[in-house]
Parts: sequence; C-alpha cells; structure tokens
Amino acid sequence: MMTAEHTLCQKTDKPAIRAQTPLILDNGIETRIISFKNLCDDKEHIALVFPNADFPKVPLVRLHSECLTGDVFGSAQCDCGDQLHEAKTRMGAEGGILLYLRQEGRGIGLYNKLDAYKAQHDLGLDTFAANTHIGFAEDMRSFTVAAEMLQAMGVRTIRLLTNNPDKVAQLQMTGIVIEQVIPTGFFEKLSNRRYLQTKRDKGHLL
Ligand SMILES: [Zn+2]
Repeated sequence: MMTAEHTLCQKTDKPAIRAQTPLILDNGIETRIISFKNLCDDKEHIALVFPNADFPKVPLVRLHSECLTGDVFGSAQCDCGDQLHEAKTRMGAEGGILLYLRQEGRGIGLYNKLDAYKAQHDLGLDTFAANTHIGFAEDMRSFTVAAEMLQAMGVRTIRLLTNNPDKVAQLQMTGIVIEQVIPTGFFEKLSNRRYLQTKRDKGHLL
C-alpha cells in the first residue's frame, strides 16, 4: 500500500516565490496569484493572496486541496466547492491567503479518485474505504508543502480556516504558529450526507 509522505524533504535550494501577478476575481477583488520554486513535491501549487493580508495582522489561511469535480463542476457528492467558495467570500471581505494544493482526491490523483468513486457506487464503500479498496492509504495528502509555501512568503503565524485537526497538527510540526483555528461552514446536501458523516467519524470537527 502506498502511504503519505509527511516529512519535509531536503532540497538543495530553499522553497521560494517564483513569480507573482495580479488576478482579478469575478467579484471584482484584485488578488495576487503566486507560484513557487523548490517545493518538495515539485507540483504546481499556488497561493492566492487577498488584499489586507500584507500583513497588518495575523492572516487568515485556508489549505484547499484540489477537487476538480467539486471545485469546477460543483459536485454535490462532497463539500469542496462550498468550502472553496466560503474561503473566497470570507477572504474577499477580510483578506487572507488561499493555498490551493494540487493533491486531487486526497492525494491519489483524478483518475484514481474516479476509480474510488466507482468503488463507492458499485460496492457501497465510504470515501475512505474506497481509497483503501483501490490500493491507497485513506488520506495521501501532505500539508507540509503548505508550510513551505508560507515560509517562502515570510508568514510564520496564521489563523487557520479548517475543520481538519490533521492540517493543524501537520502545520504545527513544521513550526508554523497557529494563533486560532476557525471552523468552516457545514454544507450538507442529500447526496453528501454519508460523505460528511464519514469525515466526522475520521475526526473532522463537523
Ligand atoms: Zn471534493
């Protein structure tokens, strides 16, 4: 079975900002979108910085793992799209840093996630059991890369928007100081009730 890699990898060069450019959102807010170099997994993670985050107070931060079906298509089977929208709205009002992490399907990739969806549908497995069924750990995500991104941006202390204690623990292990944990909303739909129940059983604070 493949397991998640939680340790900070050692690269010769330190993680750093590669480039940044303005990005105006559909609500008119002018954000900055930042790319990075020397991140330990070499994926194209990005940070979206909302104004007021530079940084008169401790910034609000959200670690959002990519979910094509939820983020782009608005899938009702999970709550990712709702959580992304919530973060965007909230940071639009008070500033913040949205770290968009390219670890689709809890880190197993899009096609494997679709295989897991098929196992859920055909065999009645829950979202974590389906990952195990197709040969992966329940959750392959690593949030240490998020710590590298924050460090590259010169951010050490944050307020974290999450219901996931694992994100808190992984960030703290890397030396990021979490001044406050702010829970995300609860987005229940008929079609994601079991998904949310499973997340709660796995320790998410819902
Ligand atoms: Zn999702």
